Amino acid sequence: MYKKFIPSEYKKTIFDITPEDLKARGIRGIITDLDNTLVEWDRPDATPKLIEWLASMKQSGIKVVIVSNNNEMRVKSFSDPLGIPFIFQARKPMGKAFRRAIKVLDLQRKQIVVIGDQMLTDIFGGNRNKLHTILVLPVAKSDGFVTKFNRMVERRIMKKLKQQGQVTWEEKN
Ligand SMILES: [Mg+2]
Repeated sequence: MYKKFIPSEYKKTIFDITPEDLKARGIRGIITDLDNTLVEWDRPDATPKLIEWLASMKQSGIKVVIVSNNNEMRVKSFSDPLGIPFIFQARKPMGKAFRRAIKVLDLQRKQIVVIGDQMLTDIFGGNRNKLHTILVLPVAKSDGFVTKFNRMVERRIMKKLKQQGQVTWEEKN
């Protein structure tokens, strides 16, 4: 049952994911988490480095949609200045927001990757929806309240996966 928590891929940060690499694999769209994936959960706006990363994706014809479990105010005020479509209160790992995001991207499942820092929401949700998933390390060491709880569960799952020898990527923090 833990299989669905294992990401297809593991990267340290989103900046280790390049448009060249995605394009070479036929990827044309990204469904990405916001908090602790793109920026720290308590940082209101995108960093210059992130803006550059998003621009490089756009230039390569890779579409991005932000799918966040956070509230409208947080997600809208972050995404709007970037001109990127977003879905707030996504209730990941539930499927509805993922299906909506696929529609927004207007692509086939195999052309899409899901990026996120949480196994329980981003990775589990992406895997359940038959999408390629990329786990990244959380940008910040700290977390919001709900995430703190999720991390606890995550650590247990990680421990199990390691015992089963199913974790093949390098150590998470
Ligand atoms: Mg997150």
